[in-house]
Amino acid sequence: MAAITFTPAELDAATSLLQDLIRLDTTNPPGHEAAAIALLEQKCRDIGLETVIAGAHEERPNLVAKLAADPARRKRRPLILSGHVDCVPADPARWTHDPWSAHHDGTHIWGRGAIDMKGFVAMAFAVIAKLKRENLPLTRDVLFVVVSDEEAGTRLGSKWLVEERPDLLGDPEYVINEVGGFTVHRDGRRFYPVQVAEKGVAWLRLTVRGRPGHSSLPSPENAVSRLARGIEAIAETRLPWHPSPEAHRFLTGFAKPRGILAEKIAGLLCHPVMGPILLPLLVREPSRRASIEAILRNTATPTSLGSGGNINVLPGIASVDIDGRLAPGQTTDDLLSELEVVLSPLLGNDYALSVLQESPGVSFETDTELFHEIERALTEADPGSHVVPAIIPGFTDSRNYATLGAHCYGFYPLQLPPDLDFAALFHGDDERIPVAGFHWGIGVLAGMLGRFLTR
Ligand SMILES: [Zn+2]
Repeated sequence: MAAITFTPAELDAATSLLQDLIRLDTTNPPGHEAAAIALLEQKCRDIGLETVIAGAHEERPNLVAKLAADPARRKRRPLILSGHVDCVPADPARWTHDPWSAHHDGTHIWGRGAIDMKGFVAMAFAVIAKLKRENLPLTRDVLFVVVSDEEAGTRLGSKWLVEERPDLLGDPEYVINEVGGFTVHRDGRRFYPVQVAEKGVAWLRLTVRGRPGHSSLPSPENAVSRLARGIEAIAETRLPWHPSPEAHRFLTGFAKPRGILAEKIAGLLCHPVMGPILLPLLVREPSRRASIEAILRNTATPTSLGSGGNINVLPGIASVDIDGRLAPGQTTDDLLSELEVVLSPLLGNDYALSVLQESPGVSFETDTELFHEIERALTEADPGSHVVPAIIPGFTDSRNYATLGAHCYGFYPLQLPPDLDFAALFHGDDERIPVAGFHWGIGVLAGMLGRFLTR
């Protein structure tokens, strides 16, 4: 098959679509993704795709658009390109350019969602439009699925679609989604992590009891002070290491090009006793150390507080919500037991841990036709680079698509310069996407799909 090349006008159209999407404020909560979904639906209709809009809430819809294969050629299950259009909040006072201005400074598009993940939505649309124009002999349907509500837990978005309207998704074999395919520069080499696993989620609430009364008489049984001690203990404790094949493959993948010894040493990071000792010796940069630890342990991060109402009343209870994440193979009960070991000596019987929401981690095999095609596409587009199957500490819509039996990969190709702190842009200030790297990604995704979808 001939290579797929984009004209400058086609690439500019993708950049403009990204800017249009950034200018529609979809901060979640409240989300209000309807305008962004309507814009994308119109664009899909304009190029002749079948579209359906569906959702639990008029202001929070989801879009499913289909590029259908010719029935005579269709012999494989569908592939989904999935993106979310909601974003986390942004404080304009902390930004160099207004987060909803989609400012183009000549090299970057700035704005909330530029990376996470309106960039991929614009990229996927550009690729589907191109596949449609090229009229390729597809052997499977391609679905462009754009969802709401990912950032707040996926309830009205992919979770709703999978539970309420799986008929629209047509038994997908593969899903391509976010968090993967971007350049990581390390020791003079270039790596492309491709997400194949996500940690599980266990959102918990710690409630601490105290003795209510008048706060003009201080009491050691103050629920708020007790809670503070519990929170400090959770924040200070490093929970045990839980090695997994997913973590091992990820850590050794970055060491492999440096030879077998380097690979073996990286593997030792997964050892339950040696790992915690070796990590500070091998990895000096704190943020990298934190991200390695996060894939080897369960984590519990206290976030939102609740207690009292009156300044002069000792509240009977105080609580904190805890964002718990589970290492592969771990369950919510495992994390609860680890937290009880930390809390019981401090709080005795005066506390309770309850589960607010949980979902298991996901892991997808890498010995698939699509994964191999992704590897090939990245190493051809950036010769000498290395593809690493990755596990991420967060979650994406993939955990919902996994329930349909689909293989889900984070493949949102972006070529990034060494001086861009990419991880800091996710949910961070001054989120921006390099335009050249974005255009490179459009070509990589289109080339890969052009080959894969006609097999
Ligand atoms: Zn995202």
